[in-house]
Amino acid sequence: METRTISVDLTRNSYEIFIGNGLLGELGGFARRHYAGGGQVAVVTDQNVWGRHGHTLAASLCEAGMDCTPVVLEPGEHNKSLAGLETVYDAFADMNLKRDGLIIAFGGGVIGDLSGFAAATYMRGVKYIQVPTTLLAQVDSSVGGKTAINLKQGKNMAGAFYQPAAVLIDTAVLETLSKRDWRCGMAEVIKHGAIRSRCLFDELKNSANKNRRDFLDIIARNCKIKSEIVARDERETGERALLNFGHTFGHAIEKLYGYSTYNHGEAVAMGMRIAAAVGQQLGLTENGVESELMGLMGLYGLATVCPATLPELLPYMQTDKKSVTGGVKLVLLRQIGKTFTHTISFNALGEILRKVEEKWKK
Ligand code: NAD
Repeated sequence: METRTISVDLTRNSYEIFIGNGLLGELGGFARRHYAGGGQVAVVTDQNVWGRHGHTLAASLCEAGMDCTPVVLEPGEHNKSLAGLETVYDAFADMNLKRDGLIIAFGGGVIGDLSGFAAATYMRGVKYIQVPTTLLAQVDSSVGGKTAINLKQGKNMAGAFYQPAAVLIDTAVLETLSKRDWRCGMAEVIKHGAIRSRCLFDELKNSANKNRRDFLDIIARNCKIKSEIVARDERETGERALLNFGHTFGHAIEKLYGYSTYNHGEAVAMGMRIAAAVGQQLGLTENGVESELMGLMGLYGLATVCPATLPELLPYMQTDKKSVTGGVKLVLLRQIGKTFTHTISFNALGEILRKVEEKWKK
């Protein structure tokens, strides 16, 4: 089996990301060798993932002599909430999970964020392993230790930086992912190319017709880009913010549509196009970047036309946790592969958004 190992080198709590096609069957031995302290094992997952891949995971743990208790939630962003968190805490308490136990986050970004936050806070911290099953979670959300739930006031508003003990990525599980969720993951893959690697960005132009199983190398390169940034700035005091390219606008779109019409990757795709257009309008982004991004996203079926008028997004950006007093720190591209932040007042941004909107209408 072709496998890759990537280290996330942190001052404390460094860990490794293991990537391979068919790795899920080895989770039990892997968990037993490295991480289980002899306590209970809780697997937090959702019905879609558990129904398709739960048997492989459970059999692997069983073979390694580890029993697990599955905590199976309904799929969907609504579970990344106080109510979802309470369900998970209750299940942990009912199974008598203690601090020497192990939590396995087995699912997409929703399960990873929710169970990571539960792991950070239950009994003041229990060890957890990320076993991401969507493309988005494999290239992005499972790496870096950002965990969170949404509050009714906004996305990811309660959370913690809490690094996993390890990340185990089985690319084979991506075969059952819907086309829509594959596309959404591709938005984050494209984002990594756009902010850090012209070479990855260009390679993606020739990869749209590849089989999913041929994405192992691309997934590994994405994990490497993210883990290197996280290693330099674990707590997002500087460079890590660059990973939010497209997210300030994307979060506003998600929120405007009640987190139900567009999922994260779709909103980020539209957000990246807006960020490129804003950068060009400000004269800070090289001309042609917006159309290049649109071209690549189009190859992967990602829509880039924002359904709202751009000034409509402004109030939703004002409540974003990345806003600063009176304005927002935007992540912009100088060119493909080169990123920087630019702080702008809401008034000035409103003006720019109106100009971009006019340009698009022509
Ligand atoms: P998700 O977890 O809702 O998964 C999408 C859908 O795919 C769900 O219906 C799920 O049941 C299904 N699914 C998962 N794996 C599957 C598989 N192998 N086969 C078939 N179906 C499968 O969504 P997502 O797109 O993975 O994650 C989105 C979340 O991630 C958002 O809440 C976002 O805020 C968060 N996120 C977090 C970070 C971070 O750094 N922590 C980064 C990016 C995004």
